[in-house]
Amino acid sequence: FFIAIEGGDGAGKSTQAELLADWIRSKGHEVVLTREPGATPVGKRLRSILLDVSSQGLTPRAEALLYAADRAEHVATVVRPALERGAVVISDRYIDSSVAYQGAGRDLSPTEIARISRWATGGLVPHLTVLLDVSPETARERFTEAPDRLESEPAEFHARVRAGFLALAAADPGRYLVVDAGQEPEAVATVVRHRLDQMLP
Ligand code: C5P
Repeated sequence: FFIAIEGGDGAGKSTQAELLADWIRSKGHEVVLTREPGATPVGKRLRSILLDVSSQGLTPRAEALLYAADRAEHVATVVRPALERGAVVISDRYIDSSVAYQGAGRDLSPTEIARISRWATGGLVPHLTVLLDVSPETARERFTEAPDRLESEPAEFHARVRAGFLALAAADPGRYLVVDAGQEPEAVATVVRHRLDQMLP
C-alpha cells in the first residue's frame, strides 16, 4: 500500500508522515517512511545539487530531469522493493511535487512533467495522496532554518505551486485527501487516520 504526502514548503509534511508511520506501525504493519528528493545515495547527491543556492538559475528542463532521475532511483531501489514485500510505503513528496513545482511553478507543461514522471517510475501511482494545504503566509511562519533555493522563491511562485497541487486533487478526488494544514498537527493527523482506517488492508 503506497501513500504520498504532498504540499508546499512548511505544510508540515514530515511531521505528518512520521505521525502516520507510527500509527500504521501500531496496527502491526511494516512501514517504510521515505522522501523525495534524496532517499538514495545518488538521490542525496542530486538533492544537494537541486537545493544548493549556487544552483540559482538552473534551467527549468534540467531541473525537471534531475528530480525525475531522483524519483526513478527512489522507486526502483526503495519503493517498489518495499511494496513487493508487503510493506506500507509513505513517501514525503512524489510525482505531484514535480507537477506542481516544475509544472505550475516553473511554467513547464504539467502534462509533460507528469509524463516524464510516469516514465521514470514505470507508472507507479499511490493508492492515496494526502495533500496538506496551507496558505503561503502560514507556511512561511514555519520556516526555521535558512531558506533553501526554493524557499527563497517569491510568494507568487508558491501561490502557483499551491494552485497546481489543488488542481491535481480536484481532477481525481477519489485518490486524494485534501486537509487544511493550518490546523494543529494532531487535528490534521486525526483527519488522515480517519480516511486511512477505511482503506488500509
Ligand atoms: O520537502 P523538502 O524540504 O525535502 O523538499 C526540498 C525542496 O525541494 C523544497 O524546497 C521543495 O520546494 C523543492 N522541490 C521541488 N520540486 C520537487 C520536489 C521538491 O522544487 N519535485
